[in-house]
Amino acid sequence: MEVLENMGEINNLKKILRELEYPRKKRLINDIKHIAKTFKHQGLQILVRPASCKACGYPFNQKGLTLKIPSKCPKCKEERIKWPSIKIEEA
Ligand SMILES: [Zn+2]
Repeated sequence: MEVLENMGEINNLKKILRELEYPRKKRLINDIKHIAKTFKHQGLQILVRPASCKACGYPFNQKGLTLKIPSKCPKCKEERIKWPSIKIEEA
């Protein structure tokens, strides 16, 4: 949580994953969901910028904090996916 707060505005999830040495992205995503609840009590909210395709820019759908990290672009079939970013804001 501290790391998230101190990481600046837009935090790329991949960076966070590396920084905190998470073994699996699923665990990070779960933690972020927990953290979001705590933030809410402090009047903060987590905004998500969805993943997109690095090759064609295809934007993936993002529902709340699901933080889906797709493995492949449905449009151009590229596997270079830009991970979602999150931003912490005052609610
Ligand atoms: Zn694409």
